[in-house]
Amino acid sequence: MFGILQDPIYEDHDTGAHPERPERLEAVRQGIADGLGSITYESLVPVPATTADLELVHDHDYVSWVRSQIEAGATRLDADTAVCRRSFAVSLHAVGGSLAGTDALIEGRVRYAFFAIRPPGHHAEPDRAMGFCLFNNVAIAARHLIQRTGLSRVAIFDFDVHHGNGTQAAFYADPSVFYSSVHQQPFYPGTGRADETGTGDGLGTTLNLPYPYGAGDDEYEQATQRFAHAMDSYRPEMLLVSAGYDAHWADPLAGHQVTEQGYAEMITTLTEVARAHTGGRIGFFLEGGYNLTALRSCVATTMATLAKNT
Ligand SMILES: [Zn+2]
Repeated sequence: MFGILQDPIYEDHDTGAHPERPERLEAVRQGIADGLGSITYESLVPVPATTADLELVHDHDYVSWVRSQIEAGATRLDADTAVCRRSFAVSLHAVGGSLAGTDALIEGRVRYAFFAIRPPGHHAEPDRAMGFCLFNNVAIAARHLIQRTGLSRVAIFDFDVHHGNGTQAAFYADPSVFYSSVHQQPFYPGTGRADETGTGDGLGTTLNLPYPYGAGDDEYEQATQRFAHAMDSYRPEMLLVSAGYDAHWADPLAGHQVTEQGYAEMITTLTEVARAHTGGRIGFFLEGGYNLTALRSCVATTMATLAKNT
């Protein structure tokens, strides 16, 4: 019932001394093994995304610009977003792997899917690279579900410590995808105020749950419960999670204090949402998490908690 997407290609996005580094995936791999133990899983196989896949969310000109910049040897797409020669190919596999894995959820081959992908995606806006992100993996997967598999309502819950400005931007006026984020504020990237709730037809399908420096398990569980409550009226047909682990107390980039127990409580609540609305199905997309020891233990906690709730 578990699907795991892992592939050595995701380590080829290597930009030298940078917190979003290939070694993160070894920590994730160990965390998956620690958490699942002898539980078997289906290995999900990445395929490269097509330009049409990327353009489910991103502007045609932006996709062309990213490709041409990387081919020309650029080392940065914005102040924080470093790239190398392989970054475009790796990004295509991150998006394509996400879509293949999402299809496994739709087809019922797996119930819980974890996509151990790089580069992350939730800061990437339709026309802009930001915050270590080139293309928005989770947003493209959500739009794939709406446009190509006939779902009417998809929910994205984002527990990365940073607000997912890119995902919010993609769906701000679109009620077919409900975007909810718990995050530190004030903090990078500056968006995600509680009064940002959507616009036009999408008014009410963005739910931001910001907390100041120092927030921890209680606040994250309160936020997850508020998301769960919102889902009782929204009734999503699929639940996707932007799983960043940088709200952990030991993370070097942020100032929240979530513990492994806090992640376990959040994951349990998310399985309850899934059981109530999505036939139990959840797809987890790796976003941030920069302390390798914490990343390993949080991924292990995620897996063990899911295993307890099958
Ligand atoms: Zn983050």
